[in-house]
Amino acid sequence: MLQHSKEPSFRESVDLMFNRAVALMKLPAGLEEKIRVCNATYTVRFGVRLRGQIHTFTGYRSVHSEHMEPVKGGIRYSLGVNQDEVEALAALMTYKCALVDAPFGGSKGGLCIDPREYEEHELELITRRFAYELAKRDLIHPSQNVPAPDMGTGEREMAWIADQYARMNTTDINARACVTGKPINAGGIQGRVEATGRGVQYALQEFFRHPEDVAKTGLSGGLRGKRIIVQGLGNVGYHAAKFLSEEDGALITGIIERDGALVDEKGLNVEAVRSWIATHGGVKGYGDGTYVEQGNKVLESACDILIPAALEGVINMGNADRIKAPLIIEAANGPVTAGGDDILRDKGVVIIPDMYANAGGVTVSYFEWVKNLSHIRFGRMGRRQEEARHQLIVEELERLSKDKELGWTLSPDFKTKYLRGADELELVRSGLDDTMRVAYQAMREVWHARDDVQDLRTAAYLVSIGKVAASYRAKGL
Ligand code: GLU
Repeated sequence: MLQHSKEPSFRESVDLMFNRAVALMKLPAGLEEKIRVCNATYTVRFGVRLRGQIHTFTGYRSVHSEHMEPVKGGIRYSLGVNQDEVEALAALMTYKCALVDAPFGGSKGGLCIDPREYEEHELELITRRFAYELAKRDLIHPSQNVPAPDMGTGEREMAWIADQYARMNTTDINARACVTGKPINAGGIQGRVEATGRGVQYALQEFFRHPEDVAKTGLSGGLRGKRIIVQGLGNVGYHAAKFLSEEDGALITGIIERDGALVDEKGLNVEAVRSWIATHGGVKGYGDGTYVEQGNKVLESACDILIPAALEGVINMGNADRIKAPLIIEAANGPVTAGGDDILRDKGVVIIPDMYANAGGVTVSYFEWVKNLSHIRFGRMGRRQEEARHQLIVEELERLSKDKELGWTLSPDFKTKYLRGADELELVRSGLDDTMRVAYQAMREVWHARDDVQDLRTAAYLVSIGKVAASYRAKGL
């Protein structure tokens, strides 16, 4: 049943979805309100002298919930940034971290800027100044507030932020833990860049491990051969599409970008499209597939899985009834409005919600933060010891395989595969895979166990709000 007469904003959408979930819980009314509201939002306007003139920029850092500290969440650079958006995103961070057991409260930052309009050295000046404004108020701090990349920012910006913080806190031995998503040479971790897209892949793999859940979409079998449309070939969409096509045998039948879309039922080559975009600034003119000028229409094309990996609100009351995908996985934050969500739920579309689907980023950020605080790379102590123990077994097996009477041999690549101890990247992927599996299982348990829970989003909210409420209670609130 349609509950909205007009399209709710992003922030209203998050609140509406939260309200729908808490209505099914027995929380004291005061606590419910305490969890829902955003604790604080700091707005800063600062000037930077560029091209012989002073430019004023507006930025935000919003702290949604401090039931655990530090609070965590990315910094976005986009002209669309505003207080409401940052607060909605900060709230999602609270629920996301709780759902995947990353021990953080939720926060988010944003700067109203189109980064493509500035030279690298100008962006550095702007970023350092923004970081200075936030750090001097402890809104960047290893134990209080730890930003990360989001839309329009990446490793480069995180390295500037980390360096700015270190300059302001010269004796803080944990300075590097003030921000995550840094390059490796500035205290980053292997696998952080791919993490959100990798998490989307692991989430889908886990979904397809449960035939009962797959049946709800009307699909069957595994990921092989499934037709996927992805919106946005940025960091998240690119990695998700790449891994799903190259490793799981799915077909990327549509890629939607700013300037239009590409469609090809035989499957597009993600790597080739990505490098075309890098050199030509868009998908237009790409050799394979068909170019569709009205890109967003492709959201409505027939496919098995739709991956919105760009902006919020792209599936809404205006197009939800025309969406044909039976399964949507929200790689972006808030791509489906509350109004769109109602329509899709009524149609029986299964949505794997953002707070779970894109939690791979913050999960690996958590690993990076722990690495920075422990001042040692994962795997450094144990790897060779693990290899030495494996060597013992391999030698023993080799000795036995020489025994003609036993009559068995080792498979050709067993030795090399088995001998190698896990490096940091493998450990990160293993930790991420485990996180995505466990969190999915927690959601699906609620989804299947309760008659009043129709969808995975409500289930996700129930699990995470339950955890946040437990933290508040433990604190005596
Ligand atoms: N910006 C990302 C998100 O929305 C990552 C946050 C983080 O790593 O702290 O989840």
